[in-house]
Amino acid sequence: MNNNINLPELSYQAFLTYQEVTDFVKSLASVYPDMCQLGSIGKSREGREIYLLTITNFTSGDPKDKPAYLIHGNIHATELAGTHASLYTARQLLVDESVRDLLQEVVFYIIPRINPDGAEYVATASGPIRSRTDRSILESNTLYPKDMNGDGLILTIRQEHPNGNLICDPDDTRLLIRRKADSKGPFYRLIPEGEIYNWDGSDNISIDGRGFDWNRNWSYDWRPEPEQYGAGDFPFSETEMRCIGEFIHSNPNIFAILGYHTGPAAVLRPPSTGSDSDLDEHDVRMMDDLAQF
Ligand SMILES: [Zn+2]
Repeated sequence: MNNNINLPELSYQAFLTYQEVTDFVKSLASVYPDMCQLGSIGKSREGREIYLLTITNFTSGDPKDKPAYLIHGNIHATELAGTHASLYTARQLLVDESVRDLLQEVVFYIIPRINPDGAEYVATASGPIRSRTDRSILESNTLYPKDMNGDGLILTIRQEHPNGNLICDPDDTRLLIRRKADSKGPFYRLIPEGEIYNWDGSDNISIDGRGFDWNRNWSYDWRPEPEQYGAGDFPFSETEMRCIGEFIHSNPNIFAILGYHTGPAAVLRPPSTGSDSDLDEHDVRMMDDLAQF
């Protein structure tokens, strides 16, 4: 039977909303029940599932007894392509007949979107955010970006301000350019569309409160702020990070982890601190070989 005809294509026309991710992972699991199971490692702060796809040949033994390769994506909210890359990988593992032998022996755990709340915020409102959207602890005189007029976008507003670092471009006043020492006013600063919590009426506001960067919330070499901006209160202090931490610790068959990001066009590998000699030389060689792909 050719299952592929029932399998939806992965669309590259737009980034995916939570509902679209949900529909896609459900379709993978329903078309390939012998090779793909849909689960969840837990729920996000706002109650969304953090989906887990387990991909292997389920007739060739318990997945927990096979070596496992973990892939995760979209830990940083704006890096929505990480979800696409994870779903593409999952789909290829299922449709590519040349990897059937691999699925006899190896299990792939794929978490396409660790950060469904932050990703939804970015996908539906283009909100600027590193990882976390939780607004349960609001700080006074802080502007929290928000789509105020319901157009689906959080835009940037120019505000005239004596300390502004920008001036109008004399050739095109729609544009702003950097202020120089001898520039003449009016001066402007840029602020995001949003709402100032508990505003005292002054212009002494900060933007967006405390930031969180979940890639700095792992346990290895965790360092507190200000050494590591966004590191959180302690390793795995963030709900979703605790979910993946517990998943990794409860699955000792995991032998490698790959995280999809979109920052630099690079393959980053351990050790992020120290030197290659800290690692097993075979591991180094294997990671270099993998990077060639
Ligand atoms: Zn990233």
